[in-house]
Amino acid sequence: MIRLQISKGLQKKIRSGYPWVFKYQVINGPLKGSAGDLGVVYDSDNRFLAIGLVDPEDEICFRVLQRKTPITINESFWEERFKEAVSIREPLKNFQTDGYRVLNGENDGFPGLILDQYGDAGVLKIYSTVWIPYLKVLSNVIQKQLTLKRVVIRLARKITSVCSKQFSIREGDLLFGESSETSVRFLENGLTFEADILEGQKTGFYFDQRENREAIRELALGKTTLNVFCYTGGFSVYALAGKCKSVLEIDSNSWALKSGRRNVELNFSDSKTVSNFSQKKGDAFQELEKLIKQKQSFDLVILDPPAFARNKKEKPSALKAYLKLAEMGASLVKKDGVLFAASCSAPVLSEEFFEVVDRGVRAAGFKFLSFKQSGHALDHPISFKEGAYLKGIFGKVI
Ligand code: SAH
Repeated sequence: MIRLQISKGLQKKIRSGYPWVFKYQVINGPLKGSAGDLGVVYDSDNRFLAIGLVDPEDEICFRVLQRKTPITINESFWEERFKEAVSIREPLKNFQTDGYRVLNGENDGFPGLILDQYGDAGVLKIYSTVWIPYLKVLSNVIQKQLTLKRVVIRLARKITSVCSKQFSIREGDLLFGESSETSVRFLENGLTFEADILEGQKTGFYFDQRENREAIRELALGKTTLNVFCYTGGFSVYALAGKCKSVLEIDSNSWALKSGRRNVELNFSDSKTVSNFSQKKGDAFQELEKLIKQKQSFDLVILDPPAFARNKKEKPSALKAYLKLAEMGASLVKKDGVLFAASCSAPVLSEEFFEVVDRGVRAAGFKFLSFKQSGHALDHPISFKEGAYLKGIFGKVI
């Protein structure tokens, strides 16, 4: 087993749940071995601190599997871990939902690994080559504990080349099962969705917004709705299900708009609902500006952009973009209407985001009366500070 020495400061962080050691933090580096080897960190008094997966080549060269008490990493270890993750999600079954996140990476004790379920299909998204030696055991565990017909592998961009060259593993390969259509159908809160598990962003669908979408359904009755950064139309379908008056979607991606329309048609066959639904393709900032110039307004405005900040350096420009969006969004909300704004930028903290949205609304000349703030749903648990990326705020614009 590879032994790692790290500073006292980092030991303390790891003891309290932080799951990574970066290459530059290893005192006895560079590490030897290959991706997926087990490594152990002892503290300065030579007591066991953590066992984890090593990749000497990766920036994150150690990913914690277990801290404080030593444990044997074998099939039954993975099985127990997996069982725990599955049992946390058990309540979702009561909500006519068979599309959800089964493994949320580090937060479920599977660092650098995501498993999403889409009906009877699964998508295993791999962010680190440490998992390559464990694919067989993962396949066994998944087949034992879930009733999936197949699981498709997706790879983070930074590992696609090495996976293909060194391990002959490519995007779309099957972990198990028979190859079939990449478009899959699933239920979320009783609504039907289709996602493309190979072409779609991340694993195909953003399950993390499920609870916010449900909140939109509850607010939507009779409302004219603007869904900005709509992607595959999740919020729109819920707003229509909540009997909103109309939905206008904006996204820059025509593929996303096409699948958004498909999701609306899957749930509503009556021509009246479909005719209340429209789309605009374009840059959200420009399209919002145009709508403001045209003096358009909506009862309900939804802003769910992509992550504007992926690291601390990008945070100032992300905050500016959130401010601008909130300002434009608020300018488009009818008097006493509702603005919902979300951020999935991990470096932007909830309080910072809520403050910037408030400032944006005020910059538009209104007040923001927040009545709901949201975070992570139960299939996206958080086990360490940096694992919390999603925040959303609902408020009246008065
Ligand atoms: N709200 C969605 C998820 C949004 S993902 C849901 O509930 O599923 C972000 C979306 O923003 C993507 O569909 C992407 O195509 C779109 N996007 C990114 N930059 C954009 C821009 N500048 N203007 C318009 N859309 C943009």
